Amino acid sequence: MAAVDPHSFTDSRQAGTRHVALSLYLDLPSSTIHASALFSLQTSHSGPFYLDTRSLTIHSVIHPKTQTPIPFSLSDPDPIKGSLLSFTLSDHSSFLISYSTSPSSSALQWLLPPQSSHPFVYTQCQSIHARSVFPCQDTPALRIQYSALLNVPSQLSAVMAARHVERRSPKHDDAVHVVLPDGESWCAQGRIVEEFVMEQSVPPYLFAFAVGELGNREVGPRTRVYAENAAAVLDSAAAEFAGTEDMIREGEKLFGPYEWERFDLLVLPPSFPYGGMENPRMVFLTPTVIKGDATGAQVVAHELAHSWTGNLITNKTNEHFWLNEGFTTYAERRIVEAVQGEQRAALNIGIGWRGLNEDVERFKDNLEFTKLKNNQEGIDPDNVYSQVPYEKGFQFLWRIERQVGRPAFDEFLKKYIATFKFKSIDTETFLDFLKANIPGIENQIDLLLWTEGTGIPPDAYEPESTAYKTIVSLANEFTNGRMPREDEVAGWQGQEWELYLDNLPKSIEASQVIDLDSRYKLSESKDYEVKVSFLQRAISCGCKTYYNEVEKTLKGVGRMKYLRPLYTALVKGSGKEDGKVFAKRIFSEARECYHPIAQGVVEAIFAKHL
Ligand SMILES: [Zn+2]
Repeated sequence: MAAVDPHSFTDSRQAGTRHVALSLYLDLPSSTIHASALFSLQTSHSGPFYLDTRSLTIHSVIHPKTQTPIPFSLSDPDPIKGSLLSFTLSDHSSFLISYSTSPSSSALQWLLPPQSSHPFVYTQCQSIHARSVFPCQDTPALRIQYSALLNVPSQLSAVMAARHVERRSPKHDDAVHVVLPDGESWCAQGRIVEEFVMEQSVPPYLFAFAVGELGNREVGPRTRVYAENAAAVLDSAAAEFAGTEDMIREGEKLFGPYEWERFDLLVLPPSFPYGGMENPRMVFLTPTVIKGDATGAQVVAHELAHSWTGNLITNKTNEHFWLNEGFTTYAERRIVEAVQGEQRAALNIGIGWRGLNEDVERFKDNLEFTKLKNNQEGIDPDNVYSQVPYEKGFQFLWRIERQVGRPAFDEFLKKYIATFKFKSIDTETFLDFLKANIPGIENQIDLLLWTEGTGIPPDAYEPESTAYKTIVSLANEFTNGRMPREDEVAGWQGQEWELYLDNLPKSIEASQVIDLDSRYKLSESKDYEVKVSFLQRAISCGCKTYYNEVEKTLKGVGRMKYLRPLYTALVKGSGKEDGKVFAKRIFSEARECYHPIAQGVVEAIFAKHL
């Protein structure tokens, strides 16, 4: 086998998929999708052919012209890659697979009554979960086009990271090879088909849909915000994201034209495991970013920047993830600087700098994952997710900008996008392009130390703005028991508090934490960033006063940015027996409300520390 990606069975000697036509019947009561997938290959292929799958039942593989079955085999599951689906083609350029997903599909979360008052189903396919929705060559090294028919109950509607064609009645021809259980019918009363096409090629991890009782509001010439159809949610989301068009224009100034036509936003239920996911044409967002300050727009700026870096130019494998996230974090801050000002951008960089230092510390026994380019053979990407590709990647690009000056770097960025758009590249390709376009750069910056070295290089840079420095020095003064005065925190938003809390000395005591909270009510903050930073700090210094708030938080949201530090603080270290018991109880009660990816991450934290 000639592997192209440590996380996929895809074989470089076999033809790549050009297009997949999906018919998906969503069976809500059983949390299952019954489906068919018609594959068209880039070239006709003879010999063995491999696809990635995870927890799929394969009913048949069929030659579409002759309707004859093609014998197939499905391997026992590999814990990371899933099951290899293999069969032999003889000069075939297309084949059809009839299959069903399972309720444990790692990409899908089914929020159904009684757990949720309204049914809602959505996907999260990054990094290696698309294979649990449809068989595919699930590597970002290959890009596919697709079309999809989603057959759903008619009181629901669907959105996708694709162009909506129409909402219509189901037709028998839509899905002749979809195997449905007794009593179910594609054309049954009360079902509707939502049809989509994705004409631009994308890596499989950008496949995305959501189904629910959705409403929407217009917020700009190419942006609508979608959410569950409740006026209050839609109104606050529309207000939060009103500045989106200004940001798209800033993105275009930096990187060139926006290539995806629409930039719509979908606000998901609180269990969504990430802050945002850059699904093309339809960004998915956690509702926790809607809080009426600058940060919601910053998350949108980040997902928007992925429209160029990540979605147009894609990392070849997850070992080069920094090419997606480092560039995007850099672009996010340029957009923030343009629309919210330099001070706000500096705070954002400062929070990132703290995060980078913490994650380098977190990996001190596994320095491989402090490298930008790292080896992920046998590694589950969800378990090594960290700020390193984001913040060290950002620091690397910022370092180059400081070396060559902003105008020259901006010129370079535009050329980089134009050269590699709709391609998947690795770190070496980037470095070769950098050296070719900025001659002599390798003599000014140690490029290998930055991309292959561990830890934080000496020429990385802590931000210097006045606002940032004031907050950090106020945090340091806390050692002497000095709390910030009301006039000093008067203009603070969530990010200022987050930065302050993150910079508090490690040695503070439980009584000091309680004093701080009785003055500023941080444990009850509506801003989860602030609340979680505070609760994490309280747990770390052995203070149990806030266990009620910790429980409410862990049961109220499923965003991994909050789950990871809170569960870790509860179970990490010796002599934490009651924290461990508490964490295990909460997880057993909250588990079903988390997306499968988040469940896996909490289980990995427990496996490491319990
Ligand atoms: Zn990102």
